[in-house]
Amino acid sequence: MISDRLLSLVRCPDCRAPLDRGLTPMGVAPVSDWGQTPGTASPYLTLRCSGCGREYPGTTADYLDLRPREAFTEQTKYLDESLHADARHERVSPPLLGSKIRNDMLRAFLAPRPGELVADLGCGSGRTLLWNQDWQAATVGIDIAPFFSREARRNVDLLIGDLRRLPFADGTFAKTFSLDVLEHLSPDALGGMLAEASRVLAPGGALFVYTHVRKNAPIARGLRAINRLARWLDRAGLVDLRQEHLRKSDHLNPLADIPELERVAHDAGFRIARIRYYTPIVGGFVENILVRMAERAMARRASSRLPASTPAAAARAEAIKEARTAAKERIATSRTTRAVLEALSFAMKLDLVLFGRIRSGPFFALLVKEPRQ
Ligand SMILES: [Zn+2]
Repeated sequence: MISDRLLSLVRCPDCRAPLDRGLTPMGVAPVSDWGQTPGTASPYLTLRCSGCGREYPGTTADYLDLRPREAFTEQTKYLDESLHADARHERVSPPLLGSKIRNDMLRAFLAPRPGELVADLGCGSGRTLLWNQDWQAATVGIDIAPFFSREARRNVDLLIGDLRRLPFADGTFAKTFSLDVLEHLSPDALGGMLAEASRVLAPGGALFVYTHVRKNAPIARGLRAINRLARWLDRAGLVDLRQEHLRKSDHLNPLADIPELERVAHDAGFRIARIRYYTPIVGGFVENILVRMAERAMARRASSRLPASTPAAAARAEAIKEARTAAKERIATSRTTRAVLEALSFAMKLDLVLFGRIRSGPFFALLVKEPRQ
Protein backbone atom coordinates (compact mmCIF):
# COMPACT_ATOMS: atom_id res chain seq x y z
CA MET A 1 0.00 0.00 0.00
CA ILE A 2 1.00 3.64 -0.18
CA SER A 3 -0.05 5.53 2.94
CA ASP A 4 0.08 9.27 3.42
CA ARG A 5 2.79 8.63 5.95
CA LEU A 6 4.92 6.89 3.32
CA LEU A 7 4.37 9.79 0.92
CA SER A 8 5.46 12.25 3.59
CA LEU A 9 8.65 10.26 4.28
CA VAL A 10 10.00 9.60 0.80
CA ARG A 11 12.58 11.76 -0.95
CA CYS A 12 14.08 11.80 -4.42
CA PRO A 13 16.68 8.99 -4.55
CA ASP A 14 18.84 11.15 -6.86
CA CYS A 15 18.96 14.48 -5.02
CA ARG A 16 17.03 13.77 -1.76
CA ALA A 17 14.69 16.73 -2.22
CA PRO A 18 11.03 16.26 -1.16
CA LEU A 19 8.58 14.96 -3.77
CA ASP A 20 5.46 16.85 -4.80
CA ARG A 21 2.46 14.74 -5.56
CA GLY A 22 -0.27 15.01 -8.14
CA LEU A 23 -3.19 12.68 -8.74
CA THR A 24 -4.84 11.94 -12.02
CA PRO A 25 -8.25 10.98 -10.65
CA MET A 26 -9.57 7.61 -11.77
CA GLY A 27 -6.83 6.98 -14.25
CA VAL A 28 -6.56 3.33 -15.11
CA ALA A 29 -3.58 1.71 -13.51
CA PRO A 30 -1.37 0.02 -16.08
CA VAL A 31 -1.78 -3.71 -16.43
CA SER A 32 0.95 -4.98 -14.23
CA ASP A 33 2.99 -8.08 -14.82
CA TRP A 34 3.10 -8.77 -11.13
CA GLY A 35 -0.27 -10.35 -10.58
CA GLN A 36 -2.48 -7.33 -10.13
CA THR A 37 -6.03 -7.35 -11.37
CA PRO A 38 -5.72 -5.99 -14.92
CA GLY A 39 -7.49 -2.74 -15.66
CA THR A 40 -8.32 -1.92 -12.06
CA ALA A 41 -9.38 1.68 -11.84
CA SER A 42 -7.33 3.45 -9.21
CA PRO A 43 -6.12 6.97 -8.69
CA TYR A 44 -2.96 7.36 -10.68
CA LEU A 45 -0.30 8.89 -8.51
CA THR A 46 2.36 11.11 -10.02
CA LEU A 47 5.33 12.27 -8.01
CA ARG A 48 7.65 15.06 -9.06
CA CYS A 49 10.95 15.96 -7.40
CA SER A 50 10.91 19.50 -6.04
CA GLY A 51 14.70 19.64 -6.44
CA CYS A 52 15.82 18.11 -9.75
CA GLY A 53 12.36 18.00 -11.36
CA ARG A 54 12.44 14.27 -12.08
CA GLU A 55 8.98 12.77 -12.55
CA TYR A 56 7.95 9.44 -11.09
CA PRO A 57 4.95 8.37 -13.14
CA GLY A 58 3.06 5.15 -13.38
CA THR A 59 2.66 4.49 -9.68
CA THR A 60 -0.23 2.19 -8.83
CA ALA A 61 -1.95 1.91 -5.49
CA ASP A 62 0.33 -0.93 -4.35
CA TYR A 63 3.86 0.42 -4.09
CA LEU A 64 6.09 3.31 -5.08
CA ASP A 65 8.86 2.97 -7.63
CA LEU A 66 11.73 5.14 -6.41
CA ARG A 67 14.71 3.53 -8.03
CA PRO A 68 17.60 5.94 -8.65
CA ARG A 69 18.10 7.25 -12.16
CA GLU A 70 21.62 5.91 -12.15
CA ALA A 71 21.34 2.19 -12.76
CA PHE A 72 24.03 0.36 -10.86
CA THR A 73 25.90 -2.06 -13.07
CA GLU A 74 25.75 -4.66 -10.36
CA GLN A 75 22.24 -6.06 -10.10
CA THR A 76 21.22 -9.08 -8.13
CA LYS A 77 19.79 -12.11 -9.86
CA TYR A 78 16.79 -11.57 -7.65
CA LEU A 79 15.52 -9.42 -10.49
CA ASP A 80 15.26 -12.61 -12.47
CA GLU A 81 11.73 -13.86 -12.26
CA SER A 82 12.75 -17.48 -12.67
CA LEU A 83 14.12 -17.35 -9.15
CA HIS A 84 10.66 -16.46 -7.95
CA ALA A 85 8.77 -19.04 -9.93
CA ASP A 86 8.54 -21.14 -6.80
CA ALA A 87 5.37 -19.40 -5.60
CA ARG A 88 7.18 -18.19 -2.51
CA HIS A 89 5.73 -14.71 -2.82
CA GLU A 90 2.13 -15.59 -3.64
CA ARG A 91 0.86 -16.58 -0.26
CA VAL A 92 2.40 -15.80 3.10
CA SER A 93 2.54 -18.70 5.55
CA PRO A 94 3.15 -18.07 9.25
CA PRO A 95 6.81 -18.11 10.34
CA LEU A 96 7.93 -21.73 10.74
CA LEU A 97 11.25 -23.60 10.85
CA GLY A 98 14.18 -21.41 9.75
CA SER A 99 12.02 -18.37 9.19
CA LYS A 100 10.61 -18.77 12.71
CA ILE A 101 14.15 -18.79 14.15
CA ARG A 102 15.05 -15.67 12.17
CA ASN A 103 11.85 -13.87 13.10
CA ASP A 104 12.19 -14.72 16.81
CA MET A 105 15.75 -13.39 16.80
CA LEU A 106 14.67 -10.24 14.97
CA ARG A 107 11.99 -9.62 17.58
CA ALA A 108 14.33 -10.29 20.50
CA PHE A 109 17.18 -8.11 19.19
CA LEU A 110 15.35 -5.21 17.55
CA ALA A 111 12.17 -4.93 19.68
CA PRO A 112 10.69 -1.76 18.16
CA ARG A 113 8.38 0.32 20.32
CA PRO A 114 4.89 1.34 19.12
CA GLY A 115 5.05 4.27 16.75
CA GLU A 116 8.75 3.90 15.91
CA LEU A 117 9.68 4.06 12.24
CA VAL A 118 11.12 0.76 11.01
CA ALA A 119 12.41 -0.17 7.54
CA ASP A 120 12.88 -3.68 6.13
CA LEU A 121 15.83 -3.36 3.76
CA GLY A 122 15.36 -6.09 1.17
CA CYS A 123 11.86 -7.11 2.26
CA GLY A 124 11.18 -9.69 -0.50
CA SER A 125 7.50 -10.67 -0.33
CA GLY A 126 7.00 -8.37 2.67
CA ARG A 127 6.19 -11.31 4.91
CA THR A 128 8.40 -10.24 7.85
CA LEU A 129 6.51 -6.98 8.16
CA LEU A 130 3.20 -8.87 7.98
CA TRP A 131 4.33 -11.22 10.76
CA ASN A 132 5.24 -8.33 13.04
CA GLN A 133 2.27 -6.03 12.73
CA ASP A 134 1.78 -6.38 16.50
CA TRP A 135 4.84 -4.14 16.95
CA GLN A 136 2.50 -1.28 16.09
CA ALA A 137 5.55 0.32 14.57
CA ALA A 138 5.31 2.39 11.39
CA THR A 139 6.98 0.14 8.85
CA VAL A 140 8.22 0.41 5.27
CA GLY A 141 9.33 -2.48 3.07
CA ILE A 142 11.95 -1.80 0.38
CA ASP A 143 13.14 -4.18 -2.28
CA ILE A 144 14.82 -3.97 -5.66
CA ALA A 145 12.22 -6.32 -7.18
CA PRO A 146 8.44 -6.00 -6.82
CA PHE A 147 7.78 -9.62 -5.83
CA PHE A 148 5.51 -8.48 -3.04
CA SER A 149 2.79 -10.77 -1.75
CA ARG A 150 -0.82 -9.81 -2.19
CA GLU A 151 -1.25 -9.43 1.59
CA ALA A 152 1.76 -7.12 1.82
CA ARG A 153 0.44 -4.98 -1.06
CA ARG A 154 -2.73 -4.49 0.92
CA ASN A 155 -1.32 -4.01 4.42
CA VAL A 156 2.26 -2.78 4.30
CA ASP A 157 3.88 0.38 2.91
CA LEU A 158 6.07 -0.78 0.05
CA LEU A 159 8.48 0.67 -2.44
CA ILE A 160 10.99 -0.55 -4.96
CA GLY A 161 14.32 1.12 -4.62
CA ASP A 162 18.05 0.49 -4.48
CA LEU A 163 19.53 -0.15 -1.03
CA ARG A 164 22.61 1.84 -2.10
CA ARG A 165 20.50 4.97 -2.77
CA LEU A 166 17.61 5.00 -0.32
CA PRO A 167 14.81 7.54 -0.99
CA PHE A 168 14.74 8.92 2.56
CA ALA A 169 16.20 11.87 4.43
CA ASP A 170 19.04 11.43 6.95
CA GLY A 171 17.98 10.09 10.34
CA THR A 172 14.47 9.06 9.26
CA PHE A 173 14.27 5.64 10.95
CA ALA A 174 14.62 4.44 14.55
CA LYS A 175 15.29 0.87 13.42
CA THR A 176 16.05 -1.11 10.28
CA PHE A 177 16.66 -4.75 9.48
CA SER A 178 18.00 -6.83 6.65
CA LEU A 179 17.48 -10.59 6.56
CA ASP A 180 19.25 -12.84 4.04
CA VAL A 181 20.38 -9.83 2.01
CA LEU A 182 24.03 -9.01 2.71
CA GLU A 183 25.31 -12.28 1.24
CA HIS A 184 23.89 -11.24 -2.16
CA LEU A 185 26.10 -8.13 -2.31
CA SER A 186 29.67 -7.56 -3.51
CA PRO A 187 32.07 -5.94 -1.00
CA ASP A 188 31.49 -2.57 -2.75
CA ALA A 189 27.72 -2.90 -2.71
CA LEU A 190 27.82 -4.01 0.93
CA GLY A 191 29.79 -0.89 1.87
CA GLY A 192 27.30 1.29 -0.02
CA MET A 193 24.32 -0.46 1.54
CA LEU A 194 25.62 -0.16 5.11
CA ALA A 195 26.51 3.51 4.60
CA GLU A 196 22.96 4.19 3.41
CA ALA A 197 21.40 2.18 6.25
CA SER A 198 23.48 4.22 8.67
CA ARG A 199 22.55 7.52 6.99
CA VAL A 200 18.79 6.96 7.20
CA LEU A 201 19.00 5.86 10.87
CA ALA A 202 18.74 8.35 13.71
CA PRO A 203 21.86 8.42 15.97
CA GLY A 204 21.63 5.49 18.37
CA GLY A 205 19.34 3.71 15.89
CA ALA A 206 19.87 0.03 15.14
CA LEU A 207 20.23 -2.26 12.13
CA PHE A 208 19.54 -5.96 12.69
CA VAL A 209 21.12 -8.31 10.17
CA TYR A 210 21.04 -12.01 9.49
CA THR A 211 23.77 -13.17 7.11
CA HIS A 212 27.00 -15.18 7.24
CA VAL A 213 30.76 -14.87 6.98
CA ARG A 214 32.76 -17.34 4.90
CA LYS A 215 34.79 -18.64 7.85
CA ASN A 216 33.07 -21.51 9.65
CA ALA A 217 33.82 -23.16 12.98
CA PRO A 218 34.79 -26.86 13.11
CA ILE A 219 31.25 -27.72 14.30
CA ALA A 220 30.03 -26.73 10.82
CA ARG A 221 31.45 -30.11 9.72
CA GLY A 222 28.23 -31.58 11.07
CA LEU A 223 26.37 -29.41 8.62
CA ARG A 224 28.57 -30.55 5.75
CA ALA A 225 27.71 -34.16 6.58
CA ILE A 226 24.03 -33.28 6.36
CA ASN A 227 24.61 -31.63 2.99
CA ARG A 228 26.44 -34.73 1.75
CA LEU A 229 23.44 -36.79 2.77
CA ALA A 230 21.16 -34.35 0.93
CA ARG A 231 23.24 -34.70 -2.26
CA TRP A 232 23.09 -38.46 -1.96
CA LEU A 233 19.30 -38.30 -1.57
CA ASP A 234 19.17 -35.95 -4.57
CA ARG A 235 20.95 -38.56 -6.72
CA ALA A 236 18.56 -41.19 -5.39
CA GLY A 237 15.66 -38.99 -6.46
CA LEU A 238 14.36 -38.55 -2.93
CA VAL A 239 14.97 -34.80 -2.70
CA ASP A 240 15.32 -32.09 -5.34
CA LEU A 241 18.11 -29.60 -4.71
CA ARG A 242 17.78 -27.57 -7.90
CA GLN A 243 15.84 -24.70 -6.38
CA GLU A 244 18.36 -24.56 -3.56
CA HIS A 245 21.27 -24.36 -6.03
CA LEU A 246 19.50 -21.63 -7.96
CA ARG A 247 18.95 -19.68 -4.76
CA LYS A 248 22.56 -19.97 -3.68
CA SER A 249 23.95 -19.26 -7.17
CA ASP A 250 23.34 -15.61 -6.36
CA HIS A 251 25.51 -15.54 -3.25
CA LEU A 252 28.59 -13.32 -3.43
CA ASN A 253 29.47 -13.76 0.28
CA PRO A 254 31.36 -10.47 0.73
CA LEU A 255 32.42 -11.05 4.36
CA ALA A 256 35.43 -13.26 5.11
CA ASP A 257 35.21 -13.35 8.90
CA ILE A 258 33.92 -11.53 11.98
CA PRO A 259 36.87 -9.08 12.24
CA GLU A 260 36.07 -8.02 8.68
CA LEU A 261 32.42 -7.53 9.66
CA GLU A 262 33.59 -5.33 12.54
CA ARG A 263 35.73 -3.24 10.17
CA VAL A 264 33.05 -2.85 7.51
CA ALA A 265 30.43 -1.97 10.13
CA HIS A 266 32.77 0.55 11.77
CA ASP A 267 33.47 2.22 8.41
CA ALA A 268 29.73 2.80 8.00
CA GLY A 269 29.43 4.30 11.49
CA PHE A 270 28.18 1.20 13.33
CA ARG A 271 29.36 -0.79 16.32
CA ILE A 272 28.28 -4.37 16.91
CA ALA A 273 26.14 -4.25 20.03
CA ARG A 274 25.03 -7.91 20.05
CA ILE A 275 25.87 -11.00 18.05
CA ARG A 276 24.65 -14.59 18.16
CA TYR A 277 25.95 -17.33 15.89
CA TYR A 278 23.75 -19.87 14.17
CA THR A 279 25.08 -23.26 13.13
CA PRO A 280 21.95 -25.13 12.05
CA ILE A 281 22.75 -28.78 12.76
CA VAL A 282 19.24 -29.74 13.90
CA GLY A 283 17.91 -27.09 11.50
CA GLY A 284 19.94 -28.45 8.60
CA PHE A 285 18.59 -31.94 9.15
CA VAL A 286 15.01 -30.65 9.40
CA GLU A 287 15.13 -28.23 6.45
CA ASN A 288 17.59 -29.90 4.09
CA ILE A 289 16.47 -33.49 4.60
CA LEU A 290 13.01 -33.86 6.14
CA VAL A 291 11.32 -30.88 4.48
CA ARG A 292 12.92 -31.64 1.10
CA MET A 293 11.80 -35.26 1.20
CA ALA A 294 8.25 -34.21 1.97
CA GLU A 295 8.38 -31.62 -0.80
CA ARG A 296 9.76 -34.12 -3.31
CA ALA A 297 6.99 -36.58 -2.48
CA MET A 298 4.38 -33.86 -2.92
CA ALA A 299 5.95 -32.73 -6.22
CA ARG A 300 5.83 -36.35 -7.47
CA ARG A 301 2.15 -36.51 -6.72
CA ALA A 302 1.58 -33.14 -8.42
CA SER A 303 3.51 -34.11 -11.57
CA SER A 304 1.47 -37.30 -11.96
CA ARG A 305 -1.58 -35.06 -12.36
CA LEU A 306 -0.02 -32.96 -15.17
CA PRO A 307 -0.87 -33.81 -18.82
CA ALA A 308 1.68 -36.25 -20.27
CA SER A 309 2.48 -33.81 -23.09
CA THR A 310 4.06 -31.24 -20.70
CA PRO A 311 7.80 -30.86 -21.50
CA ALA A 312 9.99 -32.38 -18.77
CA ALA A 313 11.64 -29.17 -17.50
CA ALA A 314 8.35 -27.26 -17.41
CA ALA A 315 6.63 -30.17 -15.73
CA ARG A 316 9.30 -30.29 -13.07
CA ALA A 317 9.06 -26.57 -12.33
CA GLU A 318 5.27 -26.72 -12.36
CA ALA A 319 5.25 -29.73 -10.03
CA ILE A 320 7.52 -27.99 -7.49
CA LYS A 321 5.39 -24.89 -7.62
CA GLU A 322 2.24 -26.90 -7.09
CA ALA A 323 3.81 -28.84 -4.25
CA ARG A 324 4.78 -25.62 -2.50
CA THR A 325 1.34 -24.13 -3.00
CA ALA A 326 -0.21 -27.33 -1.66
CA ALA A 327 2.18 -27.26 1.31
CA LYS A 328 1.12 -23.71 2.14
CA GLU A 329 -2.51 -24.72 1.84
CA ARG A 330 -1.88 -27.59 4.20
CA ILE A 331 -0.10 -25.34 6.71
CA ALA A 332 -3.08 -22.99 6.61
CA THR A 333 -5.72 -25.68 7.05
CA SER A 334 -4.25 -28.71 8.82
CA ARG A 335 -3.73 -28.50 12.56
CA THR A 336 -1.59 -31.61 12.61
CA THR A 337 0.78 -30.24 9.97
CA ARG A 338 1.03 -26.99 11.90
CA ALA A 339 1.70 -28.81 15.17
CA VAL A 340 4.43 -30.96 13.60
CA LEU A 341 6.12 -27.94 12.03
CA GLU A 342 5.88 -26.00 15.28
CA ALA A 343 7.47 -28.88 17.19
CA LEU A 344 10.28 -29.05 14.62
CA SER A 345 10.74 -25.25 14.84
CA PHE A 346 11.06 -25.59 18.59
CA ALA A 347 13.64 -28.37 18.25
CA MET A 348 15.60 -26.17 15.85
CA LYS A 349 16.11 -23.66 18.66
CA LEU A 350 18.56 -26.15 20.14
CA ASP A 351 21.08 -24.94 17.55
CA LEU A 352 20.98 -21.48 19.12
CA VAL A 353 21.09 -22.79 22.68
CA LEU A 354 23.96 -25.23 22.05
CA PHE A 355 26.07 -23.40 19.47
CA GLY A 356 24.98 -19.75 19.74
CA ARG A 357 28.24 -18.67 21.38
CA ILE A 358 30.54 -20.55 19.03
CA ARG A 359 31.84 -18.17 16.39
CA SER A 360 30.84 -19.63 13.04
CA GLY A 361 29.52 -18.65 9.58
CA PRO A 362 25.87 -17.56 9.92
CA PHE A 363 25.02 -14.99 12.57
CA PHE A 364 22.44 -12.54 13.89
CA ALA A 365 23.83 -9.14 14.79
CA LEU A 366 22.56 -5.86 16.08
CA LEU A 367 24.55 -2.93 14.70
CA VAL A 368 24.06 0.36 16.51
CA LYS A 369 24.73 3.69 14.85
CA GLU A 370 27.36 5.57 16.86
CA PRO A 371 26.68 9.20 17.58
CA ARG A 372 28.98 11.29 15.40
CA GLN A 373 32.19 12.41 17.12
ZN1 LIG B 1 15.53 14.98 -7.33
